[in-house]
Amino acid sequence: MMAQIYDRVALIGLGLIASSMAWAMKRDGLAGEIVGFARSAETRNKAAELGFVDRVANSAAEAVKNADLVVLCVPVGAMGAVAAEIGPHLSQGATVTDVGSVKAAVIDAVGPHLPDHVHFVPAHPLAGTEHSGPEAGFAELYENRWCLLVPVAGTDPTATGRLRRLWEAMGANVDEMGAEHHDLVLGVTSHAPHLIAYTMVGVADDLQRVTDSEVINYSAAGFRDFTRIAASDPTMWRDVFLNNKSATLEILGRFTEELFALQRAIRTGDGDFLHDYFTRTRAIRRGIIEAGQDTAEPNFGRGAKEEDAS
Ligand code: NAP
Repeated sequence: MMAQIYDRVALIGLGLIASSMAWAMKRDGLAGEIVGFARSAETRNKAAELGFVDRVANSAAEAVKNADLVVLCVPVGAMGAVAAEIGPHLSQGATVTDVGSVKAAVIDAVGPHLPDHVHFVPAHPLAGTEHSGPEAGFAELYENRWCLLVPVAGTDPTATGRLRRLWEAMGANVDEMGAEHHDLVLGVTSHAPHLIAYTMVGVADDLQRVTDSEVINYSAAGFRDFTRIAASDPTMWRDVFLNNKSATLEILGRFTEELFALQRAIRTGDGDFLHDYFTRTRAIRRGIIEAGQDTAEPNFGRGAKEEDAS
């Protein structure tokens, strides 16, 4: 059993990310007590029934009382309102963190509501599945995944170091970077790909009206992976795009230019261009496998617990 890192952890939002953190903290005794709060009574009751929290609170303000770590695990668009509610109730010297998929907008929304006596260390675990809610979590979600810490200027390095230890104890590899850089990197690696998957599935859905069930019957080759990504939580992803606007639009602009170049190569029969392009992209896939971030096995029809960096 690993050593306890925080005495009392308050999780605000009790979905996939929070429940996975709770299971991992419980497994290794990383928190003395885990208190949880979610918006609906249904989710609060489910969390209590599943037992990944020691106690469920009736409000976010009540949940953070005497907590030395507060983790905001709500959709990005809800972070500011939650911070406003808990701000006056935070303990002296507590660390407040979040797990939001976007960082600059969350820092802008949350920061102003936090008193000077707390440490704010925004974070983003690059792990997830297309499933959401309190029943979707599992202790191994963060195993060998990255967690990016985005400390704001003037953050106490001791507070950052302690949060780093927690993520490492939950199995993650931890790195630090600035908020703008984070949002651009995630725009490329996660946000734009999700939008493309949503679009492709939308196109197929329109087409399906013409081709009946063929889209579903013959979905194995590539399309099935798109549908898995496009099944991700609509609220979470709406908030990601609305809050990572400029990076997403920048990447989509580049994407459109590349798409036109490929489209032109197909039209003009430029096989060399296509071959060179696909050779370059194949090398990227190899790099990901070599970095231990995926397996080389064919991944169509992935299992339910397949990780997906969001
Ligand atoms: P989730 O499973 O949908 O859970 C969201 C939780 O937030 C639910 O318990 C929900 O409560 C609660 N909630 C929503 N609005 C609230 C409010 N105003 N006050 C209190 N609770 C509220 O979502 P998730 O996948 O865990 O995502 C949580 C955060 O992690 C998001 O910011 C997301 O960007 C980030 N993230 C997600 C992934 C991923 O792949 N899923 C990966 C990395 C980071 P109810 O159930 O009562 O509605």
